[in-house]
Amino acid sequence: MVAFKIPCVVALAFVLLNTVIAQDYPENNLSERTCFSWPEGMKMALSLTFDDARLSQADKGIPLLDRYNVKATFYVSPPSFKMRLDTWKKSAANGHEIGNHSLVHPCSGNFTFSRERALEDYTIEQMHAELDSASRLLKYLVGTNPVSFAYPCGQTFVGRGINTRSYVPVVASLFQTGRGWLGEAPNDPAFCDLAQLTGMKLDGQTFEEILVLIEGAKKSGHWLVLAGHEMGGEGNLVSCLETIEAICRYASDPANGVWIDTVSNIASYIEENRKKEINKKSKKDG
Ligand SMILES: [Zn+2]
Repeated sequence: MVAFKIPCVVALAFVLLNTVIAQDYPENNLSERTCFSWPEGMKMALSLTFDDARLSQADKGIPLLDRYNVKATFYVSPPSFKMRLDTWKKSAANGHEIGNHSLVHPCSGNFTFSRERALEDYTIEQMHAELDSASRLLKYLVGTNPVSFAYPCGQTFVGRGINTRSYVPVVASLFQTGRGWLGEAPNDPAFCDLAQLTGMKLDGQTFEEILVLIEGAKKSGHWLVLAGHEMGGEGNLVSCLETIEAICRYASDPANGVWIDTVSNIASYIEENRKKEINKKSKKDG
């Protein structure tokens, strides 16, 4: 009996291992086209997003985007946001989106810059209050309530060890979307959780590197959300103006089939489309 059980356990482990190995190849899944349809025969959606309200965004990035009439989403940090408030107000009136990025940018205290406001020391209640205050402040400063959020450092937890909690439900209750950082694949509009959108790295990339992501998203019909920080200049977290300009040029050509728009505009289309699908299904079932 024991002798029989051991080969069974080994066989089961082998099957499980094969399943895990098969799941390690995301390309297999991504090549399948989503069942979702974008408006006007577009092949994919693309959002340009930038974090922290860095001064280069207001000074160099927005004038560049405006030359191509491309609208982007900016997840802003209040201290630097206030330093270019007039530009941000005009940009918001001109169709760019202002999103919430918290008040004090809490990240893991493993980053020394965050040690005094470490996520490990936060509670869910504290996070809820902070995000709500940041939204109220933005409403006061620009007159509109932010509906999009980006997780500072892309981290979605508070607490530590067995007391760790996800604050994704807080974000889902306060916003239409939440965006991460350093995501590995674009979002499937038919399935993705809007409170956990992936944001793929725009910083430090050439247009050729981004084009590979765009072509992959076109094939699968997915929503590519690119995430960056500084717009132009030198350093670690810098999106090159040349890359941004090449993306704008490419996405503005209707022959390329790219719907480039703010996160909230694309998320609203997805929500509408999902509602229609549910109605269609309930009519069929009824
Ligand atoms: Zn940030």
